[in-house]
Amino acid sequence: MSENGHETGPLSQVCPHDICTGCAACANACAHDAIAMSEDELGYIHPQIATDLCTGCRLCQTVCPALHPVELHEPRCVFATACKDAEERQTSSSGGAATAAGRYILEQGGIVYGCAQQNFQNIRHIRVEQTEELAALKGSKYVQSHIGPILRDIRKELRNGKEVLFVGTPCQVAGLRRFLRKDNEHLTTIDLICHGVPPQRMLREDVTSQAQRLRSPLKDLKVAFRWKAQYGIQYGIQFGEALNGNLRRVCLPHDPYITAFWTGLSFRENCHQCPYARTARTGDLTIGDFWGLGREAPTQFKIREGVSLVLVNTAKGQTLWDKMSSNMQSEERTLNEAVRGNTNLRHPSQRPPTKDSFMDTYRKTGDLAIAVKTAIPTRERLKMHLMEGIKRQRILVTFLKTGRRIIHTLKHHE
Ligand SMILES: Cc1cc2nc3c(=O)[nH]c(=O)nc-3n(C[C@H](O)[C@H](O)[C@H](O)COP(=O)(O)OP(=O)(O)OC[C@H]3O[C@@H](n4cnc5c(N)ncnc54)[C@H](O)[C@@H]3O)c2cc1C
Repeated sequence: MSENGHETGPLSQVCPHDICTGCAACANACAHDAIAMSEDELGYIHPQIATDLCTGCRLCQTVCPALHPVELHEPRCVFATACKDAEERQTSSSGGAATAAGRYILEQGGIVYGCAQQNFQNIRHIRVEQTEELAALKGSKYVQSHIGPILRDIRKELRNGKEVLFVGTPCQVAGLRRFLRKDNEHLTTIDLICHGVPPQRMLREDVTSQAQRLRSPLKDLKVAFRWKAQYGIQYGIQFGEALNGNLRRVCLPHDPYITAFWTGLSFRENCHQCPYARTARTGDLTIGDFWGLGREAPTQFKIREGVSLVLVNTAKGQTLWDKMSSNMQSEERTLNEAVRGNTNLRHPSQRPPTKDSFMDTYRKTGDLAIAVKTAIPTRERLKMHLMEGIKRQRILVTFLKTGRRIIHTLKHHE
């Protein structure tokens, strides 16, 4: 112990396990490379300190946003927005706001950092310098993205005077800001509204077992977590490329991974106490889905095609929004409407009462499907099946209506 009562010598942990977000600021800051982000027994990533390399300098704790919270910004204005280009909109998660922002930064000669899926076993933040590469960032990957050494890369580019855009979850943005320690005029950040992240190990195991069942080769397999169907956005696991374009889909509640995600069973422990699930934000801009759009005042948007919610939080965010929004159709809306439709702007995702039994079963059996069955009461599972049924019913109704319209048109032509 030192004179002031602090521990000296090599550290055993950076911050308490249950508040660590896995943002990797500590691992990037360590000048001795004494910290590795490693999977714990359930697959969640946490910093692991090599005590033989640690000098006890505590820089890792200085940059930890869980120990030293970053300043948050209340939104100045709120927009509903979607790319004017139909294909851009169709291939984005909601309205394509992230891609529009990235495109503008690249046009200025800058660099964009965001989450890409190399294959389902490797989902991480990458750097993008060409417009054609932006497509790799598109789409919400409902899993914790690994940051790797990318924060060091960002610092290097900022020192070179490059314009940088970073897109990530609010805790990743907080990690980057603490790592840099002071505001940088060349850095703009976008945080996503986020309800929580599961570990990549659960995804790997689920996709491997689903792919084997569907006789899909695993090599280079990529998955999608949400896609735009005729009646709106659908959630599940979608297998693509490896099946030569024949898409296979396993949807909620039949896929254990996506079911555990939607019910919050598989989120990191800290997600249930997330300090960023509120209107005050870590990023210069915030983007999400504009759920509940049109409830307070009429809207021009077709919500089932996907509409982004954009919160403009800082002057830098305003500058980016003014430039990127020229290719977007937008409506100014109220913060109240955005907050009413989006739970995670009000509070963190609640910890499910059966989460402990889910974790226990998963720890003992290593089987996600069994763990989900144990933790979700039969009544809940029946409700999910019912909701899926209602959605399918809607497809059937649309199909019948289209058929009737075709017959009607044909009769009129006779
Ligand atoms: C784990 C997770 C939870 C979310 N929860 C909510 C929610 O509760 N409410 C809500 O309104 N919106 C939520 N979103 C955001 C929403 O799904 C869309 O990503 C957002 O609306 C952007 O849509 P877009 O069309 O602009 O994005 P696109 O143009 O499709 O681009 C997606 C952007 O998200 C980034 N990204 C994708 N996956 C990840 C990831 N795993 N980690 C970090 N960054 C990632 C990419 O870098 C890319 O820039 C969540 C997203 C994620 C990844």
